[in-house]
Amino acid sequence: MHLPPRWVSGENCAKLISSTLFQLPMKKESITVEVPAQTLHVEHARCPSGHSLMDPRKMISGYPALKVLLRYAGRRGYVHLDPVLGSFQNQSEIDIPDGEIVEMLCPTCQASLQTESETCAVCYAPMFAISLPNGGTLKGCQRNGCHRHKLLLVEAAAQRETLKGGDHIQMLM
Ligand SMILES: [Zn+2]
Ligand SMILES: [Zn+2]
Repeated sequence: MHLPPRWVSGENCAKLISSTLFQLPMKKESITVEVPAQTLHVEHARCPSGHSLMDPRKMISGYPALKVLLRYAGRRGYVHLDPVLGSFQNQSEIDIPDGEIVEMLCPTCQASLQTESETCAVCYAPMFAISLPNGGTLKGCQRNGCHRHKLLLVEAAAQRETLKGGDHIQMLM
């Protein structure tokens, strides 16, 4: 599958993915959607209370970066996250050794972005969740260095229901 490089805002990101979903060959009981690396970027990320996580003053990979507060080993510092999905040019104020688990917080209200119970399917670390427009969610692993360079939609049946219900995107990064 080839998708031309294009700018996809948060609003139509979910639509693109849901339409892509049904064009792909199925493999057994799960569908994996592989979006060509670095063709999607996040434009409208928010904390659960609605504070923007975008930092228009900081560009990474050519787009405004996301800015969140990190908590690790009793320290706090800001990290700028690469807004391009599949790209990980993150820039952190505090050094996090590979393999360590951090917690992400909203820089405005300091609410934790950690999900209640969900863990990474790869390494079982707690996940963070970032709100996108139209009920979308971007989820990722909080273990430093654990990411996948592709977008996954798992459990096709459940995913279809959640797509109908709220354009929920599960992303492992
Ligand atoms: Zn907030
Ligand atoms: Zn992980």
